[in-house]
Amino acid sequence: MTNKTAPVAICTWGFTKANQAAGEALESGMAALDAAIKGVAVEEENIKNTTVGKGGAPDREGNVTLDACVMDSNGDCGAVVCVENITNVAALAKVVMEETPHVMLAGKGAEELAYKNGFQAEQLLTDSSEAAYREWLKTSEYKPIINIENHDTIGMLCMDQYGDIAGACTTSGLSYKMKGRVGDSPIIGSGLFVDNEIGGAAATGMGEEIMKTVGSFLIVELMRQGKTPQEACEEAVQRIISRNKNFKNFQVAYIALNIKGETGSYCIHPGFAMMQYKDGVNTRITSVAALDS
Ligand code: ASP
Repeated sequence: MTNKTAPVAICTWGFTKANQAAGEALESGMAALDAAIKGVAVEEENIKNTTVGKGGAPDREGNVTLDACVMDSNGDCGAVVCVENITNVAALAKVVMEETPHVMLAGKGAEELAYKNGFQAEQLLTDSSEAAYREWLKTSEYKPIINIENHDTIGMLCMDQYGDIAGACTTSGLSYKMKGRVGDSPIIGSGLFVDNEIGGAAATGMGEEIMKTVGSFLIVELMRQGKTPQEACEEAVQRIISRNKNFKNFQVAYIALNIKGETGSYCIHPGFAMMQYKDGVNTRITSVAALDS
């Protein structure tokens, strides 16, 4: 049976094309997970986006390492962390989910699985991200306090024509991170969580803070308790603020979608927006921020 609120697609930041691609895929009958993977692939392949996929900023040793996860409406999920040379890591996370008995593969193991499944090796470090890295090397200043605007991780939630919800989250993580550092984005429950009876949530921002409160799972559980997506996002951000005196020095932003097709978003600092594709219209929604007033 088709669902009258569907299809709906939402994603972090103003990724108009990515969200449009997902929305159109859903309109054409594609299942929620495939539409989310198709949507986020737009940013994975966008070399101007320096925190997702090809063109992503490298770690402090100059290697681009990508993290991603996917979660399906039946509760299955897959993730890859610290993957080099592969652009479409959200699609690779789906391969982990479907073709292996595991949920998460790291580094070389994930890369080998990619080649076995027809993915091509690509140079992820572009000329401009290498130039920016060389500039950074002059001071090699590494501060975990990061530019509040400098987050472009794409987390996406899709509801298909049957009302089924799935999501994908993909990133190159923090610029010039320590070798081996993995943030929230590929961690099921932190960067992404979906429960088809309730809804889904996704995150962007300072991954360490999102992981400490298992942010996306928290939002879905708050919705289970009756909160709207908006109220749930607000409470999850407040949870971080109330436990961290340093909260003005980093950004965290959440988006959420429930089974009624209602959406919400909230963040610490002004400047975050989400895209929402609903009733055939793709809209940029500026998020209310905890520090707005
Ligand atoms: N959440 C990502 C991470 O910590 C970064 C971001 O959204 O910019 O890896």
